[in-house]
Amino acid sequence: MLIIGGGVIGLMTALELAQAGVQVRVLEQGAFVKEASWAGGGIVSPLYPWRYSSAVTALASWSQSAYSHLSQELKTATGIDPELRQKGLLILAVDDEQAALDWAQQYQRPLCRINNEQVKVLEPGIAVGHGALWMPEVASIRNPRLGQALLARCQQMANIQLHEHSAVTGFCIANGLVSAVESGSQSYRAEQVVLCAGAWTGQLAQFLQLALPIEPVKGQMLVLQTEQPSVERVVLGRGRYLIPRNDGLLLVGSTLEYEGFDKTPQEQARQSLFQSACELLPSLDKAKVLHHWAGLRPGSPNGIPWIGQMPGWHNLHINAGHFRNGLVLAPASCGLMADLLLQRVPRVNPAPYQPQTRLNEINQK
Ligand SMILES: Cc1cc2nc3c(=O)[nH]c(=O)nc-3n(C[C@H](O)[C@H](O)[C@H](O)COP(=O)(O)OP(=O)(O)OC[C@H]3O[C@@H](n4cnc5c(N)ncnc54)[C@H](O)[C@@H]3O)c2cc1C
Repeated sequence: MLIIGGGVIGLMTALELAQAGVQVRVLEQGAFVKEASWAGGGIVSPLYPWRYSSAVTALASWSQSAYSHLSQELKTATGIDPELRQKGLLILAVDDEQAALDWAQQYQRPLCRINNEQVKVLEPGIAVGHGALWMPEVASIRNPRLGQALLARCQQMANIQLHEHSAVTGFCIANGLVSAVESGSQSYRAEQVVLCAGAWTGQLAQFLQLALPIEPVKGQMLVLQTEQPSVERVVLGRGRYLIPRNDGLLLVGSTLEYEGFDKTPQEQARQSLFQSACELLPSLDKAKVLHHWAGLRPGSPNGIPWIGQMPGWHNLHINAGHFRNGLVLAPASCGLMADLLLQRVPRVNPAPYQPQTRLNEINQK
């Protein structure tokens, strides 16, 4: 099995397959887990989850119940702690509250409305307005550590071969199948190929004359060092969020920009993110910005990932297009990809993610 792309999706897919006894090779164009999977914030929930389709909710719910075990397993096996913090998500300034409450009831997700006094009990420093929505079971994960732990776990597996700085530059086709994958002067034979190239998956598919609507969506973030303790929980308001880490650092995210593959952080975004952070938590006005960066999310229509076999290509598969939710969706998405490849009973209904379904939806528009 050959996997193209060594972000969280590629490595978790590799691990799922290797744990079932499959020989896996992963080709990564740069260093492992240094693109979106490193750049992201690590909230283990979609932002405003009720605004997503049932397809996204199904994967997110499965993953949320799996993350605690996965995180513990990785820590035990590698000694690297992905720092899963299950401290809840506080959502301020929501104007579609009833939709949120209806969604929570339909999917049995813990979510309730709380008043300003209750907000202050949870997060004393937060600027209150008209109460908040509270999701006590939502977690966050330190995604760069998750990436390090996944990589270390893959390195431990005798049946995974990892190749860094090995960009895929072409495919060899024989009898309607992908027979090999080219990386510069190297050629790797493959019985099955899985595209896990994140924001670059659309570009990669063009080598096979396939048009996939997966495009880069830039997101800029800051990390702040604060003098006083900031927040304990993830706090979201007007599309911007604060994510506390175990060592006291505070992440602020994020922008949403359609600018191709440009990853340059911009001063205007830095100021806007800092201002949003201060609006949520006024005491941050004296915080120091330690780092400012951007990553490229793999944007796809409705944020629904593409998981399954490419129509017309018996040995070409895809697990990509997770947009803003690749970290939360990863365990379910990669598990489902492995279920389909190994002909196991799928852990969630695969229909909404299948490339054929997604292409039909696009053609009907
Ligand atoms: C600012 C920001 C905040 C985010 N916050 C969250 C969050 O809080 N929660 C959440 O769930 N998600 C979040 N996300 C989204 C999440 O990070 C992504 O959906 C997820 O990381 C996608 O994983 P991936 O493995 O598909 O992509 P990537 O991590 O980008 O990995 C793809 C890999 O493929 C490699 N590649 C590309 N082309 C080739 C080629 N030709 N040959 C070989 N290798 C190739 C790339 O180098 C890259 O390493 C955020 C993203 C950003 C940018």
